Amino acid sequence: MSAPVTPESLTVTAERRVVTSAQGSAPDKNWVIVTRAITRQYEMGGEIVRALRGVDLAVRRNEYVAIMGPSGSGKSTLMNLIGCLDTPSSGEYWLNGQQVSKMTDDALAQVRNKEIGFVFQTFNLLPRATALQNVELPLVYAGISSGERKRRAAEALEKVQLGSRMTHKPNELSGGQRQRVAIARALVNEPSILLADEPTGNLDSQTSEEIMRVFEGLAEQGQTVIMVTHEPDIAAHARRVVVLRDGVIASDDSGDVFRSRLGQGH
Ligand code: ADP
Ligand code: MG
Repeated sequence: MSAPVTPESLTVTAERRVVTSAQGSAPDKNWVIVTRAITRQYEMGGEIVRALRGVDLAVRRNEYVAIMGPSGSGKSTLMNLIGCLDTPSSGEYWLNGQQVSKMTDDALAQVRNKEIGFVFQTFNLLPRATALQNVELPLVYAGISSGERKRRAAEALEKVQLGSRMTHKPNELSGGQRQRVAIARALVNEPSILLADEPTGNLDSQTSEEIMRVFEGLAEQGQTVIMVTHEPDIAAHARRVVVLRDGVIASDDSGDVFRSRLGQGH
């Protein structure tokens, strides 16, 4: 008996098609991320560590994806590749229709600044600068005028509900508020992807929920979000959950499927 054709199985087919189509063929603009059989190996004292062993991943614009997996499964390695901080040992990576797997470091840095907003576990804010100044920083590097910087930074802070804390310094803000400043800073360049590596790793569970609500709100407004986490409760907020194991994708499910499985496991 053949499986019924559901919207979900059609989705899977479209993803399979784009990741398995001929190497070198540019995906259409609906796909913000396409990796084809990417690997990354590290050499450590004469030994080769295979951190990623052939990852096929296709992410559409406006998706909210959690990348999960145990420690050492390759999450950070994949995030560094997706975020253009690193290039694969083999395979292809297409970001917004551009093949970045073969770019020079300079070209990679340009694509990274334009396309990717990073959020880290440690918020990485300048301690002596106000929230507004912290958020303005990427625009300073981009050479934007002072008035325009302030306007855009204030707008990004409004998006994370921090409009009333713009002149506060990090030590005058709660952990959740600091992470929201970091999210605003990641958004100020209007990147195609918001990429977060363990964004709640330094936060208590109540504050983590606060940050998850921020991501959910951004996803609802159409921001593509990729979040790396090892915590199932955090991953459960995403609309799609990709699980890595030993450097390959072990499962790739809708958030609903992941949550129902998580419920059964309890
Ligand atoms: P995760 O983020 O899921 O914990 P990582 O991507 O950090 O996993 O690591 C995957 C594997 O690659 C691990 O075995 C790790 O020890 C190894 N690894 C990661 N970065 C390096 C590196 N720079 N040099 C050597 N080995 C590394
Ligand atoms: Mg990691």
